Amino acid sequence: MALHPVRPRILGFISEDVSAWLVASLVLAAGALLTGLLAWGTLNLFNQQLRQRFALQVDERYSRIEERFQDQVQRLDSLRRFFANSDGVSNTEFHGYTEAMLRHTRAFAWAPRVLREERQAFEHQARAEVSGTFTIREPDEAGVLREAPERDEYVPVLYVQGQPSYGAPLGLDLLYQPTRRATLERARERNAMAVSQPLDLVGVDPVFSRGIMLAAPVVRHSGNELLGFVVAAVSMRQLMSDGLPDSGHDNLSMRVLDLSSDDRQEMLYESPDRPGNSELSATRLLRLADRDFRVELRPSLLFLSSNHSSVVSLTVLGGLLSLMLSVLFYTLVSQRQRALALVEQRTQELRARETELRGTHGQLRGVLDAATQVAIIATDLRGVITTFNAGAEQMLGYQSCDVLQSMTLESLHVPRELQERAAQLAARFGKPIPTCHAMLLEGGEQGGQQAREWTLVRRDGSHLTVNMLATPVLDDQELWVGHLAICIDVTERKRVHEALAARDLLLKKLSAHVPGGIYQFKMDFNGGFSVIYASDGIRDIYELEPDVLVRHAEAIFSRIHPLDSARVRASIRTSADTLSPWREEYRVQLPLRGLRWVRGEATPEQLPGGGVLWHGYISDISDLKRVEEELRALSVTDALTGIRNRRYFQERLTSELARVERGTGEMAVIMLDIDHFKRINDQYGHAMGDRVLQAVCQRITQRLRRTDVFCRLGGEEFVVLCPDTDGESAYTLAVGLWDGLRGAPIEEVGVITASFGVASLRPGEGADALLLRADSGVYAAKQAGRDRVEAPLG
Ligand code: GH3
Ligand code: MG
Ligand code: MG
Repeated sequence: MALHPVRPRILGFISEDVSAWLVASLVLAAGALLTGLLAWGTLNLFNQQLRQRFALQVDERYSRIEERFQDQVQRLDSLRRFFANSDGVSNTEFHGYTEAMLRHTRAFAWAPRVLREERQAFEHQARAEVSGTFTIREPDEAGVLREAPERDEYVPVLYVQGQPSYGAPLGLDLLYQPTRRATLERARERNAMAVSQPLDLVGVDPVFSRGIMLAAPVVRHSGNELLGFVVAAVSMRQLMSDGLPDSGHDNLSMRVLDLSSDDRQEMLYESPDRPGNSELSATRLLRLADRDFRVELRPSLLFLSSNHSSVVSLTVLGGLLSLMLSVLFYTLVSQRQRALALVEQRTQELRARETELRGTHGQLRGVLDAATQVAIIATDLRGVITTFNAGAEQMLGYQSCDVLQSMTLESLHVPRELQERAAQLAARFGKPIPTCHAMLLEGGEQGGQQAREWTLVRRDGSHLTVNMLATPVLDDQELWVGHLAICIDVTERKRVHEALAARDLLLKKLSAHVPGGIYQFKMDFNGGFSVIYASDGIRDIYELEPDVLVRHAEAIFSRIHPLDSARVRASIRTSADTLSPWREEYRVQLPLRGLRWVRGEATPEQLPGGGVLWHGYISDISDLKRVEEELRALSVTDALTGIRNRRYFQERLTSELARVERGTGEMAVIMLDIDHFKRINDQYGHAMGDRVLQAVCQRITQRLRRTDVFCRLGGEEFVVLCPDTDGESAYTLAVGLWDGLRGAPIEEVGVITASFGVASLRPGEGADALLLRADSGVYAAKQAGRDRVEAPLG
């Protein structure tokens, strides 16, 4: 059965098995959808509000313009009524009346109707009333006002009330130009106010010159007689822009179009603010007297910028929130899944551990029962035995059923031992220790759990020695619940140990009484040396402690004389290679006793894993060596004269010849024979002959070089071996010897002479040939009369 048959859902609705990526993607998609819907709603609302705001602005603007247009109509109409209802209006009255009316209007004028025949009288009266230079005029082709030609009828401007910049075109005949004429005629025909097509106002600043003319006929109310026209000149630009916000501050972009002609719709006014990019627009028709104008209104950039939508911010915010929510869900789901996976893994591990533990427990039981050579005894805290394995039964002779829950570990011990140990521990810890704890407590001698030897009592009362390791048993919470004692019977081991110790002692004593030292020496398969055993006698041989040698065998070679060291190593290797007995005599240089000669002998034995083991003996042979050397010296010394004898001469001659053959130098010999020695014997006796021989040797020796070897060949014949000497030098030396001998007379005997023969070694020559040549020299000297040196031949 699953551990969690029903798993709670994350946040109550997300299954734990679903992919974290899927959840995150769904959350992101839902967030995006909601954001989209919200943005769409917001956009709709915004557009609706924008349209409403625009419509309000348009209405306000339109009504303001319409009001202005009506204002113009009403003012001109009031002026018309002023003229119609007056019998005559003077210039002053005109100015007085129209002074306050100049708002949004460039000028008001009064233009009476003058017939051809009335012209002169009219001009005359006008000059008197208005201006001394008054005349009916019209602009020529260059635009300059000139006196108008004769016509049937004139409508000249008589009174003008204009804005300060307005250059009053007094006398301008309004009939001179078709547009103005058509307007006046339309006004006369309809007997109502008429509005001209767009035209250039005369006398007006060119910036404001494009405008319209409003004309209203003034008819005497008593009849239908047309008296003239009151006229208003309106600059469209002024009319529209006065009082509107400055450029850049207007919410609307406005255009006013003239609709008078179908083919050409002139734009009379365009506000300086450009329209923004928007589909919003409004078009209204505006009626001024008998003429329609179209007003087009569109939102300006200012309007659009001050009414921007928050959809983008909303979308970005919504997107971010969706993303964050998505990440949050991803983290939530993935972490939860990870945690669950971990729980699952841990559960699996725990199950595996549990199974393992069961197996281990079974194994442990098996081991406990199988360990027949080891006694395993567990006790509770009081020391009462709770486990007694087969090994313990076999070792102690009890059946476990006799022991369990009825005997204590203490009862298996010898009481005296426990008491001694308890007293020991009490002294160490400074407090009384009960005997039942004596075998359980650590003495703290070396730290850690240490096995100790104890004597246990078998069921039959006999004793056995065991090595017992007592350890505390802890439960899961690390609480002490009992003890575990593991005992190994060491009775036999102890006996063997004691026997070995006795053997060691015997060996020690024996080796102590043997001069020299005995040893075991080992060479590993890789050539490394080690000393396995060294008796105390070795100490005298090498002046090294035996235990030092056991640790560091190479120390031996530090004692061996440098000249012998390589030889000793080589002979050890030869012995190892051939497994032949090793025997070597060599010198050792000792710190206290100086140079000594020792002799080592050892028998090698091949080891199974490679390597060789020697059992050997080393003794000091310095005394023997000394005697040997004395004997050797005697054997090569002439007893009478003390110089080297013939044997020595032969040995040296052989070695010197070998040296010369190796190509390292020359060699010569000087042979001498005392002249008439027989006579000395005869004359002074044999003893005196002996003394003469000694005296001759002494004289010769004095004159020799350190390298020369002086030997007695026998009787009164001598030879000098001269290494590294050519024939000439040898001859010179021989002459010196001859001269020295005959120049030093011997007491009682007088001058002694000798005959000398000299020979230097020829290439390829042997010892015999060399000596023969020297001997021939002696013979030649004798023949020549003795007492001379015979030069070598060749
Ligand atoms: P020559 O000049 O021809 O050599 O005459 P010589 O007498 O020296 O020659 P010879 O060989 O005939 O004599 C050598 C003698 O030396 C013979 C021998 O008695 C003597 N002699 C040999 N050995 C010894 C010695 O050890 N002691 C003494 N006192 N005499 C010795
Ligand atoms: Mg002689
Ligand atoms: Mg002789």
